[in-house]
Amino acid sequence: MKSYRMYINGEWVESCRGTYFPVHDPSTEEIIAEVPDANAQDVDRAVAAARAAFDSGPWSQSTAQDRGRLLFRLAQKVRDETPRLAELESRNCGKPIVESEYDMADVATCFEYYGGLATKVLGHVNPVPANALSLSLREPVGVAGQIIPWNYPLLMAAWKLAPALAAGCACVLKPAEQTPLTALEMAQWFEEVGLPPGVVNIITGFGETAGAPLVQHPQVNKIAFTGSAAVGKQIVKMAADTVKRVTLELGGKSPNIFFADADFEAAIDGALFGVFINQGEVCSAGSRILVERTIYSRFLEAMTEKAGRIKLGPPLERETKMGPLVSKEQYERVNSYVEIGKKEAKLAIGGSRPASPARGYYVAPTIFYDVDNSARIAREEIFGPVAAVIPFNNETEAIRLANDTPYGLAAAVWSRDIFKVFRVVKALRAGVVWVNHMQPTYVEAPWGGYKQSGFGRELGPWGIEEYLETKQVHINLDEQPIGWY
Ligand code: NAP
Ligand code: MG
Repeated sequence: MKSYRMYINGEWVESCRGTYFPVHDPSTEEIIAEVPDANAQDVDRAVAAARAAFDSGPWSQSTAQDRGRLLFRLAQKVRDETPRLAELESRNCGKPIVESEYDMADVATCFEYYGGLATKVLGHVNPVPANALSLSLREPVGVAGQIIPWNYPLLMAAWKLAPALAAGCACVLKPAEQTPLTALEMAQWFEEVGLPPGVVNIITGFGETAGAPLVQHPQVNKIAFTGSAAVGKQIVKMAADTVKRVTLELGGKSPNIFFADADFEAAIDGALFGVFINQGEVCSAGSRILVERTIYSRFLEAMTEKAGRIKLGPPLERETKMGPLVSKEQYERVNSYVEIGKKEAKLAIGGSRPASPARGYYVAPTIFYDVDNSARIAREEIFGPVAAVIPFNNETEAIRLANDTPYGLAAAVWSRDIFKVFRVVKALRAGVVWVNHMQPTYVEAPWGGYKQSGFGRELGPWGIEEYLETKQVHINLDEQPIGWY
């Protein structure tokens, strides 16, 4: 078991109280590490370090080129160390190693993208009707508090850190209590790649005792949060007292819509991939599978047959397509929804713990059908390998069902009829819409939700906007007095 410290002001430190909490491998249920249990006092230390770095340290004098190069160096470290990082990620959160390797490539690409974008942040000359020069300057928002979940631990850290650093902000990052390890490993290279002390601080701790003080801290200018809707709502309220900038990515109950004229084989694959990738622990999971009635039985049968062949196993085995859920708590949560589902709908497959592997928080791929869109398993985010299949009769009904949800993160539509596809794309109330695919995500394109899936956008040029303020500068060129009085 490895004992980690956390990273504040360029140093590896214990929590002020000197207490630690355990980190598990969900495939063996064993403790693999311990990390400091940060509290409000530790948050104060981290915020003070970030504040000093932003207000007066060398970071405040850094050029966009400096920051860009630094992000490229960090990307290269991640690429060089991918085997080690991917293995640790899989051990800590349970996802199949092949998926972790994709995640590490995406982490590096994210740092590269924002490394390049750092030098493309442009101001503006405003055409004011005066003998004056009017400018809009883009400036970093200041100290950013960043709170992330456990489903894509290092990737979520990269989505938050990369744009913030490109913009010139200083950061205090709090990983999820379950999955702090890869972020701490990455912090080992911060000094080497040229990050001055205090620019990125990583505090390990729990939401209530470390996350909340970060959100409430008067010296923090912005909070970027990804996680559950319940916590997101608390964050908005907590941030109100200090009028922080807030961006929220809160998951959803995304519809994956299949019309009868879709390519059948591709559709079956797309339905399964959409909801079961990463054990279904995906904010954009296509957890409501809407299928046109004329293909409904055949679709359900083919999907069930193929779901039965998904290979569950230890995350580090390369053939594994589904690992355990991240924690005992999540395992119990998902199983409680499976029990609810058994009362609300019909079960096609799954619904219990698989016989093997014998240990670990595994849940078999589970498909419920004839689900009513008002059922709890169709309305609430389960965040596990549980699909709700819902029939529909026509395009109008498909759109109505798809939009009948408090969420609006993502959606997908499958058909070969481009007129129908574009009508549906326009009608869907979601921040991300895929056509004839579900889940591919690229750093170049915006990511974020409508409705209760949150606000603000990550990735692409939109992502850096959320870390920038706009300053209007008016330069009078008229040397005469105003002459008003
Ligand atoms: P969560 O409770 O929303 O946690 C997300 C992050 O917020 C974690 O770092 C968490 O800390 C922190 N946090 C919790 N309470 C907080 C508070 N009062 N103030 C500030 N920060 C706080 O999500 P979870 O417990 O990991 O998972 C619960 C459910 O959330 C899942 O079943 C799923 O439905 C949803 N979820 C959604 C996403 C997404 O991408 N949209 C991701 C993960 C989970 P600690 O967990 O470290 O205590
Ligand atoms: Mg939690």
